[in-house]
Parts: sequence; structure tokens; C-alpha cells
Amino acid sequence: MVKAIVGANWGDEGKGKITDMCADSADIVVRFQGGANAGHTIINEYGRFALHLLPSGVFHKNIINVIGNGVAFDISALKREMTEINEAGIEFKLAVSDRAQILLHHHILMDTYEEERLGDKKFGSTKSGIAPFYSDKYAKVGIQVWELFEKERLLERLKGIYSKVNILFKYLYGKEEVDCMAVYKELLDYAEFIRPYVADTSKLLRQAVKEGKNILLEGQLGTLKDTDHGIYPYVTSSSTLAGYAAVGVGIPPYEIKDIIAITKAYSSAVGEGPFVSEIFGDEAEELRKRGGDKGEYGAKTGRPRRVGWFDAVATRYGCELQGATEVCMTCLDVLGYLDEIKICTAYELDGKEYTDFLTTDALYRAKPVLTALKGWKSDIRGIKSFDELPEEAKAYVEFVEKQIGVKISMVSNGPERHEILYR
Ligand code: GDP
Repeated sequence: MVKAIVGANWGDEGKGKITDMCADSADIVVRFQGGANAGHTIINEYGRFALHLLPSGVFHKNIINVIGNGVAFDISALKREMTEINEAGIEFKLAVSDRAQILLHHHILMDTYEEERLGDKKFGSTKSGIAPFYSDKYAKVGIQVWELFEKERLLERLKGIYSKVNILFKYLYGKEEVDCMAVYKELLDYAEFIRPYVADTSKLLRQAVKEGKNILLEGQLGTLKDTDHGIYPYVTSSSTLAGYAAVGVGIPPYEIKDIIAITKAYSSAVGEGPFVSEIFGDEAEELRKRGGDKGEYGAKTGRPRRVGWFDAVATRYGCELQGATEVCMTCLDVLGYLDEIKICTAYELDGKEYTDFLTTDALYRAKPVLTALKGWKSDIRGIKSFDELPEEAKAYVEFVEKQIGVKISMVSNGPERHEILYR
């Protein structure tokens, strides 16, 4: 059975926790898109970790963790992360797709230089090289993992890449050129490092599907950051949708039977772009301080996240685009301090109300239509079943469920693995 765990919103919904939790019954966990710009926070018996590139199944000894072909594969980030996990006394199994594309150091530099060049029109990139990486992938000037083992070919390809990149570096950005031979040597070292993990992972997964193994496909970011369906251009450069997961790992799309969309009980977003239900000032600061497990600050960058009320319009859209078969709502415990909790149920624009998600400029101009529900004013961490929640908390979940039109099958009431209420 293949299950996808994906974000219904802007990302940072708590996918890492839910994937780690669901991994208890999985044989294989696969990352299918994005790169080391992820920040999946996981708190379990080994400690607190922010996984950037490794799949969230690494805490389970018998699971095979796969980096799929759709991932922006940053080998230096992988090395760092593996060291960190191994130093915590954790051993795990890893397989890397021979068709995964390699994120090269110049992608990170270019991401940084481009944000500098854009000045106040910047995107708020995590500067992990993701946009330049995917541009190169689709311009067919990227390097796939298997090419690392074809030395002569690799050198030729790199010379071709840097003859163009260095013109940009020198003349557009006014920066130092990249030493092609230094990159080549580094990649040959990397090749030896990853050699034991490289496999035809699409074949491995197709076989596992036939054998009825439990496979989790782990998404990064959320629908609203999808290149096509997100808030363009304030999006990431790969598809964050469950539909893409089949492509990003190489299995038939109809094998994905369960799609769990994760949504937070309130909204949070990083980077630039419109955010209709955003709140500001002291009200925002309070929620930011109380959010997540250590406040709403980026797991990758430490940047304060923008926060707002739950946006039912955006989340319904997010769930529909994901094709969610069920929803998990995280961080319900965070809202326990509020007398009343607002939910954005529609957008108002030019005197009209909209319940459909809008395109970027319209979102900038839209105002939230808010409904206020009574808060439960208590700490719900430690509660073990949904029925034991205060009535107001249950009513909040039920209201959201009606709004988004998908069953909320799980409610997370704390950041730790065991803090989950099934419905
Ligand atoms: P991901 O990238 O989707 O995995 O999400 P992040 O790890 O970036 O952000 C989610 C944050 O919420 C992390 O700090 C988690 O530890 C935290 N978190 C997840 N579920 C819960 C929950 O139910 N309650 C609280 N308080 N925090 C949670």
C-alpha cells in the first residue's frame, strides 16, 4: 500500500512528525521532490532533529529510506546530516536514485547572488540553490547520479556547464568564477561516498509495490508552494503535490491509495507573497511564540514565520489539489490560550465574496472574511482521545472539517510522536 504525506498549506504543517509516526508501520519512506531546503522537525526518543534532505524514516532501523529521482540531491548536505544522525547513535538504511539530479555548489551561490540582485523584489529564498537547480534540470544541463561514475563524460559535461555559468558569475553578478576542475575533483570524492547507496530505486519501489510493501511518500512544503498551482511566483521550483510523487519516485500514479494532507490549526508561512489571513503586531507575536514546539521560526533558517488564522479557502484548495483522502490537523494545542479563535471562511474582493482560491494579485487585494469560534482556554496536551477534548476544541475541528470537505482523521495535540488523537 502506497501512502503520500503532503502539505495542504505553505509548508511547515508538521509533515515530519506525522511521517515519523506513520513510519512505524512502513517498510520504505521516500522523499520525492525538493531538496535540503526542507526542515522537518522530529521529536522522538533519540532527541529533537530537523531533517533537511533525509527521509523521516531514518529513526526506524528496518526501514529503507529512499532519495527519489525528483529530489534536488545535495551531497554535501547529505554528508552533514548523516554525520549528525549517526552521532546520535542512529543507524539507518539509505538508497539514492541513480537518476536523482545533483545539486551543485554553484546553484547555492546563484540562489544567493540572484536574491542580492533582486533587492527588494527578492523571493525570500532559503538560498539552498533550489530554483537554479531545477532550472538547470529542465534546461537539461544537470548532472544525474549515474553520471558521477562516468569520469570522462562528467568532465565534458562540467566544462559545458561552467562555460555558461562563469559568464553569468563574472558579467551579471560580478563575482568570482567557478573552478571547473575543483568541482570535478569534489564530485569524484562524492561519487565514492555515495556509491554504496546508489540504486535503481524506481525498480526497487515498483517491485516493493508488487510485493504489497508499505511505502510512504514524503512531501516537502505544501500545495500553496507548488510551482503550477501555488501562489506563483512565490512558490518553490518543484511540484509539492501527491500527483507528482509518482513521477518523483517512479511508480504508477494509481498505486497511491491514501493521501494524507497535513494542515496546521492556524496558518504559517515563510518567504514573500500574499497571505490573506495573516495577523500582525502583538497578536501575531503571541501566536508565533507559542506555535510549533519552539515557536514559529524556520527549521532551516531560523527566520520568524509569518502567522495567521486558519484559512479554510486556501486549505480546501490545498486538499483538493492534493487529492486528499484524509487530513491530519496539527498544533491544535497551540490555540489553547485564546478566548476566541478566528477562521477565514471566504475572501472579500471588490465588494464580492469568494470561496475559491484566487490568483496572486487578487490574493494581495483580498480581505479575509472571518468567523469567530469560542476558545477552550486550557492545555490539551496529555489528552489521549478525541472524545476527551473540551467541547470547544471538538467544535473547532468539526467546523474546519466541514469547511474543507475532507475527513480530519487525526488531530495532533503536541509535537512528540505519541501526541496524536485518532478519529
Ligand atoms: P514540516 O516541515 O511540515 O515537517 O514542519 P516543521 O517541522 O517545519 O514545523 C512544524 C512545527 O510544529 C515543528 O516545530 C514541530 O515540532 C511542531 N509540531 C508538529 N505537530 C505539533 C503539534 O501537534 N503541536 C505542537 N505544539 N507542535 C507541533
